[in-house]
Order: sequence, then structure tokens, then C-alpha cells
Amino acid sequence: MITYLPLKEITASYEPQITDALRRIVERGWFLLGEECASFEKEYAAYIGNSHCVACGNGYDALWLILRAYIVMGVLKEGDEVLVPANTFIASVLAITNNNLVPVFVEPDEDSFLVGEAALRAACTPRCKAYVMVHLYGQCAYSDTLAAFCRERGIKIVEDNAQAHGALYGNRRTGSLGDAGAHSFYPGKNLGALGDAGAVTTDDTCLADVVASLHNYGSSQKYVHEHVGVNSRMDEFQAAVLRVKLRRLDSDNERRRAIAKMYIDGIDNPRVKVPRVPDFSGHVFHIFALMSPERDALQHHMTQCGIQTQIHYPLPPHKQQCYSQWAGLSCPIAEKLSAEELSLPLHPLLTDDEVRLIISAVNSF
Ligand SMILES: *Cc1c(COP(=O)(O)O)cnc(C)c1O
Repeated sequence: MITYLPLKEITASYEPQITDALRRIVERGWFLLGEECASFEKEYAAYIGNSHCVACGNGYDALWLILRAYIVMGVLKEGDEVLVPANTFIASVLAITNNNLVPVFVEPDEDSFLVGEAALRAACTPRCKAYVMVHLYGQCAYSDTLAAFCRERGIKIVEDNAQAHGALYGNRRTGSLGDAGAHSFYPGKNLGALGDAGAVTTDDTCLADVVASLHNYGSSQKYVHEHVGVNSRMDEFQAAVLRVKLRRLDSDNERRRAIAKMYIDGIDNPRVKVPRVPDFSGHVFHIFALMSPERDALQHHMTQCGIQTQIHYPLPPHKQQCYSQWAGLSCPIAEKLSAEELSLPLHPLLTDDEVRLIISAVNSF
């Protein structure tokens, strides 16, 4: 069986550095807001290309904290509208609604899975004050013309970089392109912790200060609380693990691209569509998304061939039970992608032989 994501083997491939790092924390006896976290923040800010990084509890919190900080700063106010792709993971939308902001779902482009400029312009209302830009599947969703449109309308760009650590726009990294970047280090992401972890990056010193306060009980000085904050800190164990894994991120992403290239060159089946990738070198292939109108049969066939696959995502946020207010909303492209998407295994430890096996399984469908 080829598993979708063998986390145990992936973690083992960073040994003995991970165990050494964890032991170092135990011996030091300092578990929160310590030197590992401070070092990770410095190293990750430099990697992404921002002057500030605040490590926090998870990727959802990173998004929520940015939007909350903008409300605290008076840049956004509750009730404002926020543009968001209709085909994203629900966390991008929850960060909006849990701040009493109103999501405006934008249809993606069917071929790239990303929101294009025309769709953004069409969806944008005068009440839209921010855009949660999702670099879905590891592909950059930013462009300078898109940013110019947002600037002209006074719309803040908040990048959801949960799936795209290391992805590039020219020589700039996603997460540093807009006004602020939210990063998730959920174990399955390209840069994954051994539990929950996340980060906010930005060049905006005021925003960074407010996020830093909000994530630690609204306090920047012990027992002095200037904001109504939350507790969303990254622990020292996760920071230490992420420091080890960050050093290999670029070569891991390079391997992901090589595998994706094998898939694109090797898959040849009229019943299956491989992704069209306009900028191969900037893509970090968090997810390799096939499309097929016969997706469920294809998934069954892959399982029969001993290959585990996944679906990202079976139901778009606006069709979820928790968002019954949008049950009547129609986003036909997002809904079609949900019905047809199938993700092939793609991680740095996948061997060329395994990739060839997966390709022949798809081609024999
Ligand atoms: C994983 C993910 C998140 C949430 O990250 P967590 O760390 O699980 O909270 C947000 N947005 C997208 C697009 C994601 O893939």
C-alpha cells in the first residue's frame, strides 16, 4: 500500500536532529515564549522575507489574529465584508465569521483553482475591506495587478499561506506579498510541526505589535492587558522541530516539484485532467490535484491498486451545515471542483518507482 502521507517515516527522516532538539527543551526546562520560539520567529521572518514574525498556536489562529488586529487598529470594523475563495479549506472562512466579518465567496478559475482578477473585480462590493488570498495547493495566487486593484479599493491583502511555504512570485515568497501572511504548520503541511503551530508574518510593525499582544492575552507586559486577547502561543517543542525542518524546506519542495513533473509528463488518460501549471518553479505542490468527472470511481480504482488518495475538499464551506445561511448560494465552479478533485500522494520521500506505480495506476483507469 502506498499511503497518502507517511508522517512517521517523514519525521524519522529528520532524525537524530528532532530528538536532539526535543531533549534540549526538556533539559532547559523552559516551555513557552522562550529562545526556540524567538529564534524560529527570526529565522522564519528571514525565510519568508518579512521584518516581523509572531509564532502562534495554529494556522486558523494566525488568520483570526490578523483580522482581529485590524479591527483593534480600526482598519476593519465588524460587519465589513471580506473576499475569500469559495473553494478554500473552511479555516479561511471561519477566521472571517468568528471576527463578525462577512465573507464574500469568490469563484476560482477552473483550470488553475485560484481566484483570478476578473472574478475578484466582479465579486468586490464597496463594503469589501480585505481579501483572504489563499495560495491553494501550494501555488501563488498573488499578482501585482491584483494587488494594484486591492490598493486602489483600500482592500487589505491577508495571505493564507498554509499550503505554500516556500512558494514564489518572481523571487519573493508567498506570505510576504500582501499586507500580512498567515502560516499553518499543521503536521501534514509542507513545513509541518509535530502538533499544532502557526505564525503571522508582516512588514507592518503596528500590526505585528497588536498580534503579538493579542496572542498572549492581549498583553505585552506581564499582567498588563491592553487588548481583549486570547491564548495562542507556539510551544518551544514545536518551534525547535520547525527550526530543524525549515533547513530542509527548499530541497523538500524541489523534490515535490520533481515528482509533480513526473506526474504531469506521465499521466495520459482522457478520463483524467492533470493540473495546468503556468509557473512551475514557483509552485510547491502541497497537493497534486487531478480532476475527473468520474472521481469516485477513480478513487476506488486507485485503492484497488494499493494507492491511498484524498479529496481536497469534498464540500465547499458555503455548503457546510454550519453555514446554513449560505445553503442557497451557488458557486458552480467551486462545487464542480469539490465533486471532481482527487489528490495523489506527493511528499519528499516518495521514490521514483512509487511515482511510476501511481502513474500507471492512473493510466490504467
Ligand atoms: C491547514 C489550513 C489552514 C488551517 O491551519 P491549522 O493550522 O490547521 O489551523 C488554513 N487554511 C488553509 C488553506 C489550510 O490548508
